[in-house]
Amino acid sequence: MKLEQLIRKNIADLKPYSSARDEFSGEAMVFLDANENPYNAPYNRYPDPLQKELKQGISQIKGVKPDSIFLGNGSDEPIDLLIRVFCEPGIHNIVMMTPTYGMYEVAAGINNVEIIKVPLSDDYQLSAERMLSAVNNNSRLMFLCSPNNPTGNLLDRSELLVLLNRFEGVVVIDEAYIDFAPGSSLLPLLQTYPNMVILQTFSKAWGMAGLRLGMAFGSPRLIAVLNKIKYPYNLNMLTQEVALSRLQQIEEVENWVELLIKERHRLASALSEIAGVDTVFPSDANFLLVKIMNARQVYMELLQKGIVVRDRSTVVLCGDSLRITVGTPAENNLLLEALYDMKNKFAIQN
Ligand SMILES: *Cc1c(COP(=O)(O)O)cnc(C)c1O
Repeated sequence: MKLEQLIRKNIADLKPYSSARDEFSGEAMVFLDANENPYNAPYNRYPDPLQKELKQGISQIKGVKPDSIFLGNGSDEPIDLLIRVFCEPGIHNIVMMTPTYGMYEVAAGINNVEIIKVPLSDDYQLSAERMLSAVNNNSRLMFLCSPNNPTGNLLDRSELLVLLNRFEGVVVIDEAYIDFAPGSSLLPLLQTYPNMVILQTFSKAWGMAGLRLGMAFGSPRLIAVLNKIKYPYNLNMLTQEVALSRLQQIEEVENWVELLIKERHRLASALSEIAGVDTVFPSDANFLLVKIMNARQVYMELLQKGIVVRDRSTVVLCGDSLRITVGTPAENNLLLEALYDMKNKFAIQN
């Protein structure tokens, strides 16, 4: 199906809000157009609604033209907007895998859009055939998370390509963790698949979760629709400024990523030596899914020692599993020591 036919009619027909700064873009000396306060510079001015400078910087790093980039208040924003663009509430549905990131289901629920969940295989892999057989005439979107949260693994590229070739809706690939799996992004295929949207974020490898900055990459037409329905000033001035200066220090980000991958390997092998640990699942992200005896109890005991991990033991296919983010070497050592202590205690009790 063509993109134009997938866009909800009310969205296609919508005339967007036109802000003062949309209508005038140039260099002026006196701004009396937006009812701003002339004092308290620079925060008195509204931020750039289309974040041109920041997009220019991202464009250079990602090798994607600015008109194929949407920036949002975290990835949460494009997730919600994509649902609103393509899914008629109470009619259309979204096909997604399970287990995966929880926000897709929440955003669908808020929009009264049905979701169809297709379980991953026992080794957390995607089956394109199973996804496709769950599709019906009202399926408009797929959310595919690679590397997947909470399982940590990249999805098979060949399966993703099957879905991109055969699903007649929009395929959203959430690459929040892709910086920890160098060379695996589908971004170079953006122009090959006009029905693909790729989500990335500044919250993980870039170390800026507190600033709320997410990216969506897609065809210029699709990106224009997202821009049309977003809040006019969705990214504040500070976020734009800090992100722009961070782009100029990309080496530091690369160093963090290298260190975190090294720590991931060290943590994985140390964890797998601990009594009670059943499986440390292979990870392409900055966290490890660990299957451990009495996961809930271990989680509670860690909490008492001031160490917070994520209990995923009630998630489909993740029984007795904890999701552990890779921290600094010192933080990882504290976690390991806490687990060693605990297992000594369990061993005595048993
Ligand atoms: C952390 C995460 C994000 C990032 O969300 P932001 O809103 O950009 O902070 C997106 N997708 C997945 C799967 C994540 O785990």
